[in-house]
Amino acid sequence: MDHDSVANSTSTPASDPLGILQHIFGYDHFRAPQDEVINTLMNGGDALVLMPTGGGKSLCYQIPAMARPGVGIVISPLIALMQDQVDALKQLGVKAAYLNSTLNAETAFSVELALRNRELDLLYIAPERLTQWRMQALLQDCQIALFAIDEAHCVSQWGHDFRSDYLQLSLLAEQFPSIPRIALTATADQRTRQEIVERLHLSHARQFIAGFDRPNIQYRIVQKVNAQQQLLKFIRNEHPNDAGIVYCLSRKKTEAVAETLGKQGFKALPYHAGLPAATREHHQSRFLREEGVIIVATIAFGMGIDKPDVRFVAHLDIPKSIEAYYQETGRAGRDGQPATAWMAYGLQDVITLKQMMASSDADEQHKRVEQQKLEAMLGLCEITSCRRHALLHYFNESSEETCENCDTCIRPVDTWDGTEAARMALSCVYRTGQRFGVSHVVDVLLGKNTDKIRQFNHTELSTYGIGKALDSKQWRSVFRQLVARGYLISNIDSFGAIQLTEKSRPLLRGEQAIQLRKDVAEKPALRKRIVSHQPDSALWEALRKCRTTLAEQYGVPPFVIFADAVLMEMMETMPTTDAALLQISGIGENKLEKYGAAFKAVILAFATPENKQTKREQPSDTENETLALLKNELSVADIAIQRELSEGTILKHAATLIDQGLIALSQVVDIDENTQKAIQTALLEQQASDEPMRFRPVFEAMEEQFSYGILHCVYADMLPSVNLEPAVGDGKDM
Ligand SMILES: [Zn+2]
Repeated sequence: MDHDSVANSTSTPASDPLGILQHIFGYDHFRAPQDEVINTLMNGGDALVLMPTGGGKSLCYQIPAMARPGVGIVISPLIALMQDQVDALKQLGVKAAYLNSTLNAETAFSVELALRNRELDLLYIAPERLTQWRMQALLQDCQIALFAIDEAHCVSQWGHDFRSDYLQLSLLAEQFPSIPRIALTATADQRTRQEIVERLHLSHARQFIAGFDRPNIQYRIVQKVNAQQQLLKFIRNEHPNDAGIVYCLSRKKTEAVAETLGKQGFKALPYHAGLPAATREHHQSRFLREEGVIIVATIAFGMGIDKPDVRFVAHLDIPKSIEAYYQETGRAGRDGQPATAWMAYGLQDVITLKQMMASSDADEQHKRVEQQKLEAMLGLCEITSCRRHALLHYFNESSEETCENCDTCIRPVDTWDGTEAARMALSCVYRTGQRFGVSHVVDVLLGKNTDKIRQFNHTELSTYGIGKALDSKQWRSVFRQLVARGYLISNIDSFGAIQLTEKSRPLLRGEQAIQLRKDVAEKPALRKRIVSHQPDSALWEALRKCRTTLAEQYGVPPFVIFADAVLMEMMETMPTTDAALLQISGIGENKLEKYGAAFKAVILAFATPENKQTKREQPSDTENETLALLKNELSVADIAIQRELSEGTILKHAATLIDQGLIALSQVVDIDENTQKAIQTALLEQQASDEPMRFRPVFEAMEEQFSYGILHCVYADMLPSVNLEPAVGDGKDM
C-alpha cells in the first residue's frame, strides 16, 4: 500500500451510520440485523455475529469503525484477502490500511505512522502481529473505535480452521476493557459458538444470529453417469461465461477436469495443495481478477476467497458433511444474484467415502461423529423432499416445506416401493457369502454368464437371475440407496465386499417396507428460477468491458468496481445523469466520482431515442409501429417477437404512448383492477417520499411480480402529462 493514498483520501461526508451507508457504500437501508449490531457497537457494547456468507457481515464493523472516533482494528487470519478488502475500501474513499507479513519494513512503517497520526478509519491486522508487544504498546497510544475479530471460529480447537494465535485474542478483553469488540463467523455449529464466547470473553456480548438460508442458490444433486460430461453440459447450458468453482476429492482429478474443461474452451485452472505456491497464487489471482474463470480445486481452495460473483459451485465428489457442503456451496452467489450449487453423486462415492472413514486413524468417538455427519450428507443426497428445507433443518432453522428453488421442488421425485427389490438385493448379498462387490452381486441378480459366476458356481444360487425385471443401472441405484441408508456396508478389510448390517435384518425378513427414490435423468430445462442473469446483449458486454478496463486501471478485481447487480440495474434503468446513477443500490458518491463518467458514456452510446429523456409531442417511428400493432390487439409478447425487440422495449414504447394519450393502459397490459390499484398505491407511496421518483422500491414492494416496463405503463396512465423517467435526462424532480 502507499501511504500517500491513505493521507489523501476524502473526508467522510456523513458521520452517522445510515449516512455512511448511503453516501459511501451507496445502499439505501440496512439489512437485518446489521442496524442492531451497529447500534450495539455505537453504544459501546460487544457483539457476536453469526451470519451466512453474503449476509453483509463486514458492514457491521466497518460502519461503526468509521462513525465512532478513532480507528477500527480488524483482526483477520486471511492475509491473502486483506489487500483486496483494503483496496475495496479505498475505492470507496475510506481511509483503510493493513499490516501483515507481506509488507516490507518501509511500508509497514508508513502504515504505523498513519495509525499514530490518527489518519486511519480501519486497520486490518493479522492475529500474530496484534499479540506482539510492540503493537500492543502502539495501540495503547491510539484512540480505538472498536476491535473486530473476523473468522472468529478460528478460536475453536474443535473446528478444522483452528489458529493458535486466536487464543491470544482474549488479551483484548483484559487490556482494552472499555473498547467494544465484535466477533464474526459464518459457522453454524452450536459448539463452536460456545467456544468463541468462552475463549474471547464474550459471555455478556449480544448475540446476533442471522438465518442460514441462501435463497438465491439453487441446490441440485444429480445421479452420476459420466460426471465430466455431465459437468460440461451443465456449465455449457447454464453458465457458459461465468466464474465458478468445481470441487474434486483428489489432486489428480482436479488437473484432469481442468484440462478437459480447458480443451472445451473454458478458462479452467487447477488448484490444490500439491501445486507450487506461485502457481496457486497465480491461479487464485486470475480467478479473482478476470471474468469467467473456473477453478477446479480440492477443498484446499476456498477459505479466504471472497469473490461475490461466483455463479456456480459444482461438486464432482460428495463432501464429508452437510457443514462442508453448506460452506462450499455458500461460496456461490455472495452478491445475492442467482447461482447454482450442482453436484453429481453415485454409488462409488458412497463406498469410497465410507471406506475412507472406516480406515481413518481417528479415535473411536471422532470416527463416530464423522460417520454420523456423512450419514446426514448421504441423507440429503437421497432425500425426496425439499433439499433446502432439509439443509436448514439440519442447522435447526425452520423453513417452508418447499422452496421452489431446488431440484426436488422444481421436479418432484417419484418414489417406488422398493421392498421386494431390496429383499432380493440383500438376499443375494447373503447367498454369495458377503464376499463380493456390487458389480458381481448385480450380475448374479441379472443371471449373467460371467467367468466369476461360473468359477463360484453362482448359477446354482436361488437368487441367480431373479432380478431381471430391473436393469443394471436400476440395480446400482437400489444398492446405492441401501448403502447410503446403512442397510449394507462396504468392508474395506474384505477388499470392499458388500455386507449386511444389523439394520438390514427386518427388511430381509419382510417385516419392514422401504420406499426408494426413482432416479431421473437430468434435463437441462431445470432453470425455473434461474432467469438469465447475464442478459445476452451488447450493452451488457459493453458495461462489463467498461468495468474490466477500470479494474485494470485501478488494479482491483472487477467486482470491486461494481457488482453484477449494479450493472444489471444500469441495464434496467439506463441512467445518464449523476442523480440517476446515485439511485442505484451500490453506487455511492466516491464511486460515482471515479467511474460515473465512464459508465454514463457507455449507456449514452446505447440509449436509443426512446430511452433518452426528450419530451416529444409526436411518437417516434418505432413507437408508431408498436402503436399500430397494439391497436391491432397484438400482445406485448407477440409484438416483441414480431419486431425482434425485447418486451421491455415494447413496454417502454407503450408507456410513452400511454403518456401521450394515444392508447389506453388496458390495451397494453392485462392486469385486473385490484392489481392495478395495488401498483398505483405503491407508486403513490413512493412518489410521496422525499426522494426523487424511483421505480425500484415499487418493483420490490410488488415482490418483483411486475417488470419495470409494466410499472412505467401504470405510472404513465396515472399521470398522463409527465415525463416517464425523471431521473434520466435533465434530472428534473417530479
Ligand atoms: Zn426445495
